[in-house]
Amino acid sequence: MPKKAPEPPDVLIIGGGIMGTASAWELARHGAKVVVLERSVPGAEASSAAAGILGAQAEAHAPGPMAELCLASRARYANFARLLGEETRIDVGYRECGVLRVAFKSADARKLNAENAWQSTRRLRVEPLGARELARLEPALSPKLSGGVRFGGDARVEPKALLRALHIAALGRGVSFRSGAFVRRVVVEGERAVGVALDDGSELRAKNVVVAAGSWTSLIDGLGLPSGQVVPARGQIVELELPAPPLSHVVFGPGAYLVPRDDGRVLVGSTLEFVGYERKVTAGAVRDLLTHATALLPALEHAELRATWSNFRPYTKDELPLLGRTKVASLFLSTGHYRNGILLAPISAEIVRAAVLGQRMPVSLAAFRPERE
Ligand SMILES: Cc1cc2nc3c(=O)[nH]c(=O)nc-3n(C[C@H](O)[C@H](O)[C@H](O)COP(=O)(O)OP(=O)(O)OC[C@H]3O[C@@H](n4cnc5c(N)ncnc54)[C@H](O)[C@@H]3O)c2cc1C
Repeated sequence: MPKKAPEPPDVLIIGGGIMGTASAWELARHGAKVVVLERSVPGAEASSAAAGILGAQAEAHAPGPMAELCLASRARYANFARLLGEETRIDVGYRECGVLRVAFKSADARKLNAENAWQSTRRLRVEPLGARELARLEPALSPKLSGGVRFGGDARVEPKALLRALHIAALGRGVSFRSGAFVRRVVVEGERAVGVALDDGSELRAKNVVVAAGSWTSLIDGLGLPSGQVVPARGQIVELELPAPPLSHVVFGPGAYLVPRDDGRVLVGSTLEFVGYERKVTAGAVRDLLTHATALLPALEHAELRATWSNFRPYTKDELPLLGRTKVASLFLSTGHYRNGILLAPISAEIVRAAVLGQRMPVSLAAFRPERE
């Protein structure tokens, strides 16, 4: 008897970063049979390189659909981290630590407060801080700071642990991962996505295809998107270590942000550079980041320099992600999350699940339509 071809999976996901793994886990929890295709290994790129700031308020410079999407995702994080902990026993480092934006000049501190006034109207926790309040909250920060703002609802997470947990949780739910699978093209027949073509010439069929390829999305053929829709925006990070955590909050200052970990590590980020896919840590960037970081937190002068790295934020020109269904039937996108992909993982995974399974959308996607010009 001839062997029957295996039933195609419900969903093929291209990319094993946070968008791919979180969507895979979410879909599998709702009964879908999912395969993730990753040209490297899960978590190889931006998602493991991120600082892990969940800055829905600190990153929201104006009201609008993006601020609301970030707030909706932040509201889901405690549950997301708890569920992952239950399924994997991994602590993903979710901490409701709050985020500070601080300034040296009092005019700049006043500007920070004015910029964020809309958040009080929106009933978000935003507190202006004078020099004395700042010193009481974070005594290790420079005494030269004149004040800032505290975003009490913002949080942090540890991206490497999060990616490991998502991968293991997805495996536990029956998701199959193929590492080293390089997708060249989405195969479209009669205006419907029916699978993908790999660089070894083979084709894989599926009922639905989700593209979660981060900064490499625009290199995949067959998506029907305007060219160059997603481009890489390089960010460099320096990891330092002190014997004990010097901060309780994440701190954004002029020229650098500081993200404390519970074990005394402090991440110093980051640059924003449009240099293509050049994966490099540069002397100038490390010098500038360390100069700004030690000005903010003088004790970092004595910190051990542990590591440096760089990776690529998936940037879109309106700085909004591309989410949900496309003009091609059965083809979906979850990409272009730029600076906030870690924050936006829970809501993006829910959006992908609702779009693929034809369920009610948790938020309006009008601003995030993949085919917008
Ligand atoms: C330095 C830095 C700091 C950051 N800090 C924060 C932060 O504090 N908070 C926050 O919320 N966000 C932060 N971000 C942004 C965040 O990291 C990204 O928005 C997010 O990781 C994007 O996730 P992704 O899954 O789309 O992309 P990625 O993690 O890059 O994953 C895409 C995956 O797709 C795979 N792939 C690509 N093309 C193909 C193909 N053709 N075939 C098969 N596989 C393919 C890649 O190998 C990769 O593994 C930061 C980013 C950087 C670079």
